[in-house]
Amino acid sequence: MRLFAAVNPPPEVVAELAAAVAPLHSLPGAAHLRWTAPDTWHFTLAFLGEVDEALLPELTERLARAAHRHPPHELRFARGGRFGDRVLWVGADGERTVLRDLARSTAAGARRAGAAVDSTHDFHAHLTLARASGHPVRLRPYAEGLADFVGMPWTVDRLELVRSRLPVSGLPGERPRYETVGAWELGRSGVVPDGG
Ligand code: ATP
Ligand code: MG
Repeated sequence: MRLFAAVNPPPEVVAELAAAVAPLHSLPGAAHLRWTAPDTWHFTLAFLGEVDEALLPELTERLARAAHRHPPHELRFARGGRFGDRVLWVGADGERTVLRDLARSTAAGARRAGAAVDSTHDFHAHLTLARASGHPVRLRPYAEGLADFVGMPWTVDRLELVRSRLPVSGLPGERPRYETVGAWELGRSGVVPDGG
């Protein structure tokens, strides 16, 4: 199964960011971008790729430990950025070093569990807002549109392991489906209780 580890912002923070992103949809070329859906917005801490189901128990154990080693911490979404003209994202302000350390532990734990986590790039906190779809669009005005954005603070208190099912229909615009398969509170041992 295709897996990644992530943290998810709370709904009011997502709503605030969605309102800040909305005007970008009228910039030239916006219809040619693949926009991510606000209800799926997340920071990816580690991308695990295809993982054999047999590794899940060990992986779960390792990720629980990684979550336990780092305290809850405060972030805000802040400022737009881009990877060339491929990816438009929003960054983060606040206790970024804690998030980075959590990301490093998560990647290391997943690697020890046998997942082939890419270690070429160090963690760079970004939430993907849109991706190029093949039709060239200049992303600079989009990033500039979010240059002054600083969102409300929120607390990162939970690490999630998410399964991604890529679209199989081939319909244009169809997006992957995400399903949380494990969640751990930061700074504590044990799993998140039901409903928590
Ligand atoms: P799509 O691939 O259809 O654009 P997606 O990127 O949201 O959708 P996945 O490819 O399953 O779905 O990726 C899940 C998460 O992992 C996303 O946050 C994505 O940015 C991140 N991700 C995917 N591939 C990599 C990679 N090679 N390195 C780092 N992060 C990745
Ligand atoms: Mg992808």
